Amino acid sequence: MSSEANPQKAGGNHANQHSGGRVEIYDTTLRDGSQGEGVNFSLEDKMRIARKLDEFGMDYIEGGWPGSNPKDIEFFERMKREPLKHARLAAFGSTRRPGRKAADDELVRMLVDAQTPVVTIFGKSWDFQVTHALKVELSENVEMIRDTVSFLKSEVGEVVYDAEHFFDGYKHNPDYAVECIGAAWEAGASILVLCDTNGGTMPNEVGEIVHELRGRLGARLGMHTHDDAACGVANALAGIQAGAVHVQGTINGYGERCGNANLVPVIANLRLKLGYECLRSDSVSHLTGLSQFVDEVANLSPNTRQAYVGKSAFAHKAGVHVDSIMKHSRTYEHVSPECVGNSRRMLVSELSGGSTIVSKAQKHELDLNKKSPQTRALLKRVAEMEHEGYSFEGAEASFELLLMQAAGTYRKLFDVEGFRVIVEQRGAGEPITEATVKVRVEGETRLTVAEGDGPVHALDSALRKALTEFYPDLCDIRLTDFKVRVVNVREGTAAKVRTIIDSADHENAWSTVGVSTNMIEASWHALVDGVTYGLLRPEAEKPASVLQESG
Ligand SMILES: [Zn+2]
Repeated sequence: MSSEANPQKAGGNHANQHSGGRVEIYDTTLRDGSQGEGVNFSLEDKMRIARKLDEFGMDYIEGGWPGSNPKDIEFFERMKREPLKHARLAAFGSTRRPGRKAADDELVRMLVDAQTPVVTIFGKSWDFQVTHALKVELSENVEMIRDTVSFLKSEVGEVVYDAEHFFDGYKHNPDYAVECIGAAWEAGASILVLCDTNGGTMPNEVGEIVHELRGRLGARLGMHTHDDAACGVANALAGIQAGAVHVQGTINGYGERCGNANLVPVIANLRLKLGYECLRSDSVSHLTGLSQFVDEVANLSPNTRQAYVGKSAFAHKAGVHVDSIMKHSRTYEHVSPECVGNSRRMLVSELSGGSTIVSKAQKHELDLNKKSPQTRALLKRVAEMEHEGYSFEGAEASFELLLMQAAGTYRKLFDVEGFRVIVEQRGAGEPITEATVKVRVEGETRLTVAEGDGPVHALDSALRKALTEFYPDLCDIRLTDFKVRVVNVREGTAAKVRTIIDSADHENAWSTVGVSTNMIEASWHALVDGVTYGLLRPEAEKPASVLQESG
C-alpha cells in the first residue's frame, strides 16, 4: 500500500489524502472471541468488557448467543437492567430450522426475548454446505434466510445478516451465493456481512469478489474474516477498500483456531493509514489500554509483538537504531507510539550502543555523551553482567542504579552483613519461612527476624524491619510481584536463576533483577536493588530529604 511506504503521511498525523468514508466497527470478542482456546469469560468478565468497549466508542457489541448457553441468556438479562450508553448491543443466532416458520422456532424466539436493539443471524450461502451439512433443498435454505430475517425485522429494530462461508460459496457457485444474500437484503437486513469462515481466502480474492458484488447488488456490505492464513486483518481491509462499510472482529484477535480479524490493527490502519472515519476521533489513542484491559480480564498473557499495541511494538534495541530514533523518531517507527496510546522503549543490552545509555542518562539529568569514558565503562559492565545471566530489559531500575553509580549520584544507604532463611515443615501444615537479616546503617547494626509466605516475602519483611527507622519512606514502598526463571549461561557449570522483583509506591512501579546459582541469593540482590532504587530514584522528592536527615 502506497501510504505505508510513505512515513511522512503516516507519522501519527491523522490527515490523509484518501477519504474513504465511514466504516462501522462491530466487536464480537464476547461471542466469536470466546470460542478461542484459553478464553473463558465469566458473566462478570463479559459485563466488564462490554462496558469497556462501550466507553471506548464501539459501534456494535455482540454479546453472545442466547440459544447456546445459560450464561449468555443471563448476560442479556443483566444488560436489560444496565444498558450500554453508546454501542448497539447485538444478540447472535442462526436462521430458523428447516420445515417450520421462523415465528414458531423457539431459538429464533430467544433472540427476540433478548430485547437487544440488534439481532445478528447467520445463514448458509455455499451450496455444498446446504446439501451436505444442512441436508436441505437449496430453495428451502433461501426460504429459511428470507423468513427468519423478515420475522426478526418485524420484531427487532435492526437485523444484521452474516453470510457464513460466503467466499468459499461464491467461488463454487456465485449465482447461488448471491441469491442467498439477496434474499436477506430483500427481507430487510441492514447489512450483508460476508464471512470468510474458514479463514483461507486471499486478500486479492476478497477485493475482487466484493467489487463484483457491488456491481450485482445495491446492498450495504460488511466483512467478517478469520486469521487461518494470517490474512484476517488484510482481508477485512481489502473488503473495505472494495466498498464494504462494516467490519467485524475481536480485540487482540481472539477466536476459534487462529482467531478472528484483530480489531486493534483494523481500527489503527483504517484511521492512521487509509483515511477512513471510524468510531470517535480519540478512540484510536485508547487502543493500547483497551487491548491490555481485555487480556487482563481474559487472564491471557499479552502478545508483546502485537502490532501497534504490544509492549515491543516501539522497543528499540540495536544501537544504531536508538541513535537514529533519538535524532528522528520516523527513522524506525511507522507511526508515533502516542497516537495509539503506546510508548517508546529503549532496551538496554549488550547490543545497545552509547545512544541508549545517553537517552537513559537524560532522565537522570546526567550529562553523558556517547564517547565519554563513563558511557564506555557502563556498556562494558552491562555486557559483562549479561554474560553472567543478567537481563535489564525487564528490570530497568537495576540498570538505572548502575547509571547512577557511573554518574556519581548513587549513595549506599546500608551495608549488608548477612542474611539467613529457614523453611520449616511441621506435620501436614503449611511450611513456615523465617528470615534473619543483619545490616549496618549510619554506623549502627540492626539484626531483625521476620516470618513470611515463602523466602522472598520473609526477606522483604526482615529488611524493612531493619531499615524503616532510618528510611520512613519505605512504608510507602511495597513488593508487588516477583518471578524466577532459570537462565542458560554460556560456559556455566551450574544453572543460574534470574529473579525479577516488582516494587511500587502510590504513583510509580519499577523492577529490579538479581542473578545467582542460588534462588534465594538472586532474590535478595533484586530485593536490595528494589528498596535502594525506591529511596534513591530521581523522580522522588523525598529520598533527597531522607539523605539530608540521615547526614
Ligand atoms: Zn467467525
